[in-house]
Amino acid sequence: MANYVSEEELKKQNEFLKRLRNINEDFYKINGRRPKCNTETYGCQQNENDTERIRGILKEAGYEFCDTCEDADLVIYNTCAVRENAEDKVFGRLGILRHIKETRPELIIGLCGCMVQQENMAEKILKVHNNVDLIFGTHALFRLPELLLNVIEKRKTVTDVENSDGSICEDLPILRESDSKAWVSIMYGCNNFCSYCIVPYVRGRERSREPERILAEVKELVKNGVTEICLLGQNVNSYGKDLESPCDFSDLLRLVNAIDGVKRIRFMTSHPKDFGDKLIKTMTECEKVCHQLHLPFQAGNNRVLSEMNRRYTKEEYLEKIEKVKKAIPDIALSTDVIVGFPTETNEDFEDTLDVLRKVEFDMIFSFIYSRREGTPAAKLGFVLTDSEIHKNFDRLLEVQNAISKRKNDEYVGKICSVLVDGTSKNNENMLSGRTDSGKTVNFKGDKNLTGKYVDVEITEAHTWSLNGKLI
Ligand code: SF4
Repeated sequence: MANYVSEEELKKQNEFLKRLRNINEDFYKINGRRPKCNTETYGCQQNENDTERIRGILKEAGYEFCDTCEDADLVIYNTCAVRENAEDKVFGRLGILRHIKETRPELIIGLCGCMVQQENMAEKILKVHNNVDLIFGTHALFRLPELLLNVIEKRKTVTDVENSDGSICEDLPILRESDSKAWVSIMYGCNNFCSYCIVPYVRGRERSREPERILAEVKELVKNGVTEICLLGQNVNSYGKDLESPCDFSDLLRLVNAIDGVKRIRFMTSHPKDFGDKLIKTMTECEKVCHQLHLPFQAGNNRVLSEMNRRYTKEEYLEKIEKVKKAIPDIALSTDVIVGFPTETNEDFEDTLDVLRKVEFDMIFSFIYSRREGTPAAKLGFVLTDSEIHKNFDRLLEVQNAISKRKNDEYVGKICSVLVDGTSKNNENMLSGRTDSGKTVNFKGDKNLTGKYVDVEITEAHTWSLNGKLI
């Protein structure tokens, strides 16, 4: 059973939070404005959800938020360790912050998340960027008031990175991105140790939240107007294995489905080895569970899959997909694919393309393999050259783009229920929202429709989105 942060520890952090708030009140009296904080998030939805908690704590501590680091008194970057380019971006941002801090030495720079939790990473960062004030891991998020107070009062660099599994902290303040949709973490960590992945080393072993606590969070969200819930975990299919009273992921889905006011339920991520008949049945019987499934297959070749330690074969994966399609014919499927795993040959890669063609995913998230120090795959030598890997990656996109466009074409003429997210990021004259199947739809309409479900007739299909007309 997972450990929870004790009441006593939470009380202590509340005291630190009060002290922080007093300091920020004094700041207001002196400067006539509240201190501003700029946050940036790299990586997955779990990180997005962690940032919402960080912002929740900071809001309670009296901070306001701003969009750029140039305007900020405090900058916090929530980092990702899954791929090297996410780390490179953070180092690039630290270079920019160095210049800002030269003219404004009082700027506080904080880094948190998976990247900083890798072995010796905090030391590596501080060696190059000694102007970073605060480094803390995902396990220490609830201690942010204490850590920040130490930086402010003692004017010294504070680090809190550890590699233990970490305790679950309930009831932290949270400032959510959306008023109508919410991520709800149901578990933390991962036990799978896929050979290329750093996550189990930085986020620790699986810890499931008690179902009662998850349901209480969902009910509270509904009370505040949220209607779409996305249940989050590195491998949601493992949910509940460490709980005292039995409740697996399917059971949890049914419990969430029964909550009045919830209209849509999504979940991610599923692991193909644990994804089974019980969950498929539950998806068909729970009317609020969206007809959308993200099931990462990563590679199509069985030897590569085995070296990735994925514990399923191409055939088993395809069989599960067939079952899902049969049970839910209009299911929208998405997946993750890694191109250029060290031992992958051009011939092996053909198996990956074969899976794409057979399954016909609506969307894929594709990545070129990124070597992560400390993982078993990091010791393997490469079979293909960089240019061969890039060529395969381009072929993958070419095959998938044609499939995605064809799948989107099937929507033209249909009327879809769309939950409106707000103004489109790419065109301020359009609204943007999502269908039950998770497709992005852009259409003209009043901003006041944000957070509402509207019927939209699909008029045009693109590779990654749809255009429509409000009915
Ligand atoms: S299931 Fe595999 S890829 Fe996913 S987080 Fe766990 S180890 Fe990483």
